Amino acid sequence: MWRLRRYSSWLIVSFFSSLSFFQTVQLSKLSFHLTAKSGNAKTGPMAVSTSAKSTCSPTCPFLDNGCYATSGPLNLHWLKVSSGERGSNFATFLSKLQELPEGSAFRHNQAGDLPHNLGKISETFIRKMIVATKHLRAYTYTHHSLKVGENLSLIRKANRAGFTINVSCESEAQVDDAIAHNLPAVVVAKSTESRVTWHTEGGNVVVVCPAQRSDTVTCSDCMLCHKRGKKVAIAFLAHGTSKRKAESHLS
Ligand code: SF4
Repeated sequence: MWRLRRYSSWLIVSFFSSLSFFQTVQLSKLSFHLTAKSGNAKTGPMAVSTSAKSTCSPTCPFLDNGCYATSGPLNLHWLKVSSGERGSNFATFLSKLQELPEGSAFRHNQAGDLPHNLGKISETFIRKMIVATKHLRAYTYTHHSLKVGENLSLIRKANRAGFTINVSCESEAQVDDAIAHNLPAVVVAKSTESRVTWHTEGGNVVVVCPAQRSDTVTCSDCMLCHKRGKKVAIAFLAHGTSKRKAESHLS
């Protein structure tokens, strides 16, 4: 009887140990790519990164279903980063970021999201990125849910430290919710949207991305995704070959 109880306890411990093994974020196994000076016409000559596809949020509605990054040359690049053929491990990526000149503009993730464990953002990733980007004008976006694990406090922590993480939304209600949580928000709008700016029901202002309204504005000139008023959200008009699919998620 005693042996049976001991065996049962061992089974329970083994079961939970194996669960924690599978839940461990192995940042060292993920691939990240840094382009120190992008040739992209929209971003302009600034630093941009790409993260392996496994960083994408399981709650992103565009996951394999309308994501702008899954077509054209960006998709080919993303596939190579995701397979490890291109890019470097997290430690090397951090070193490369630290070597960028003081005050450089840096867009993290032209494709990809924040490394996570079943939707819970990696605390180690956020902590190390805050240190590696503190000399930069750095920003990114996330589709990770604010309701999962410590996501809300980690995103807040990064924003407070100057590494801007915009909450990606599909509705104005989500924009109002993110801003009510004191977080910067961006939202996808229909490709046919003709307004340049408007108000949400919550009284926040939505402004269409200037680079989508002018051929002469680039992110490196604009930088609204890094710094803007607390009640201002950026709208991105659905574009690319998947825009119809993307629009089907809007509300
Ligand atoms: S709002 Fe400005 S920084 Fe953001 S994507 Fe558009 S041009 Fe780039």
